[in-house]
Amino acid sequence: MRVLLVEDDAMIGETIRDALKDESYAVDWIQDGSMVAPTLKAQQYDLILLDLGLPGKDGQDVLTSIRARQESIPILIITARDTLSDRLQGLDGGADDYVLKPFELAELLARMRAIIRRKGGCATPVLTNGAISLDPATQEASVHAGPPVSLTGREFALLHALLIRPGAILSRSTLEDRIYGWGEEIESNMVDFLIHALRRKLGNDIIKNVRGVGWRVSKGN
Ligand code: CA
Repeated sequence: MRVLLVEDDAMIGETIRDALKDESYAVDWIQDGSMVAPTLKAQQYDLILLDLGLPGKDGQDVLTSIRARQESIPILIITARDTLSDRLQGLDGGADDYVLKPFELAELLARMRAIIRRKGGCATPVLTNGAISLDPATQEASVHAGPPVSLTGREFALLHALLIRPGAILSRSTLEDRIYGWGEEIESNMVDFLIHALRRKLGNDIIKNVRGVGWRVSKGN
């Protein structure tokens, strides 16, 4: 999961970024509203955390222009503006949800999981393709409803990327994108290492290699 954090307050931004990294999200953080459009052109994200009071371009305008381009990327607004009209404007403007500052990080994370889940089209909190189940709240996986197996942050991030679209083949660079944020050094064989580790924990056939193209999990079985 790769998240774009748009927040001009250094302390809040740092707190959120560190918390998201701890939860195995890849996070890129920008502080200026006018940087959102060029950033979205250069990089694909699973979710945007958007502050409203921003230098460069107000968050409300950022939201409006993203939706005007008909981009359906999930957007969660994080803001101190708490009047009813602000909230309605945000939601009517196409935000998926709203969190008021100050908020508990646990609540922010839960709302992010809910939005990502809805976007993936899953009604239940646990992602599954029929064979493997993955619980984003605990980062535990299980095979054929067997005992839960704990995953490391990166193992979780990789399996999550595959399970959100069972059947889709994800390339090495797409998987790396879901695991690393800006400025994080990409270890050359990390994807192979993680897939090896997941197969050891969950079974050899849970992740299929499509030679020269990438990896996938099966679509329901
Ligand atoms: Ca602000």
